[in-house]
Amino acid sequence: MQLTRFTDIGLRVVMALAADPDATHTSRELADDLHLSYTHVAKVVSRLSEIGVVNSRRGRSGGLAITELGPQAGVGWLARHLEGDDEVVNCEGERPCPLRSACRLRGALAAAQDAFYTSLDRLTIQDLIADPTGAQLLTLLPGPPNSADHTDAGPAAAMNCSEMRRSR
Ligand code: SF4
Repeated sequence: MQLTRFTDIGLRVVMALAADPDATHTSRELADDLHLSYTHVAKVVSRLSEIGVVNSRRGRSGGLAITELGPQAGVGWLARHLEGDDEVVNCEGERPCPLRSACRLRGALAAAQDAFYTSLDRLTIQDLIADPTGAQLLTLLPGPPNSADHTDAGPAAAMNCSEMRRSR
């Protein structure tokens, strides 16, 4: 099973913010520091904020920070929320599969998908930022945020995420 790029970026952003819980960062900084597209990070941050793992504040003293829930979140739980309800195979697409009402493979794939997330739920975000990952993240997140550029909750963040979820 493959996670979407949207979910990968979401997990990366949450790990970075959890590794540096006393600081705030802008989406632009995170994009630069983690070698990601700003547009993608802004969209993901909007979703992370809805889920409740990231706080986003506007203004000169604003920025992004991990919430209390963030480090305790199960990795599988968070991945499910970022991935959405899509099945591993799209049985209902433009030309729906004629087997779909009686397909044992569909059920098996759904069970495998569930097992995948359940397996990831053995770990929390806090587990993922144990060293060496946490130490490496801190080397990537330099200094205080640039107060001149706090655009985290701006229009880009409100854009529809479904297109990005589909890209892998
Ligand atoms: S064979 Fe089964 S799993 Fe594959 S597309 Fe058809 S209904 Fe879905």
